[in-house]
Amino acid sequence: MHGNNGGSLYHEALLDKRKDVLTGLGLQVNELAQAVRASDEDQAQMSHEEFLNMRLNKIEWDTLRLIDEALDRLQAGDYGTCLRCEEPISPKRLKALPWAKYCVRCQEKLAKRDQDGTRDEAPDLVWSS
Ligand SMILES: [Zn+2]
Repeated sequence: MHGNNGGSLYHEALLDKRKDVLTGLGLQVNELAQAVRASDEDQAQMSHEEFLNMRLNKIEWDTLRLIDEALDRLQAGDYGTCLRCEEPISPKRLKALPWAKYCVRCQEKLAKRDQDGTRDEAPDLVWSS
C-alpha cells in the first residue's frame, strides 16, 4: 500500500538519484579495488591522485547512505518532516534535495554550527550532478 500524500513521487526521485550515484561509483569500483590491493602490498604506493579519488567517492557513499535513510523514513511514514524541529520540510526543498532531513531554517543553523566546528548534527549534504 502506498500513501496518497505524494510520497511515491519522492520514492521515485530517491531511486533515480540512487541509480545515478551507483552508476558513478560503479565506474570507479575497479580502480578502488586495485588501490586497496596495492596498498596491501605497499602502503606507500598510493598516489596523491588515488587518495583524492577515494575522498571524492566518500561524498557519493555519504549520499547513498542518506538516500537509503530517506527511503527508510518514507517507509516508516515520517518522510518530509524535519528531524530537528518536526516542522514539515517544504516540497520545493524535497524536490531539490529528496534526502533532506532538515527544514531550511534548521539547515541554515546547522550549516553555521558546522563552520564553527560543532559536528554532532551534520547539515544536509548538498550534492548536485
Ligand atoms: Zn527544522
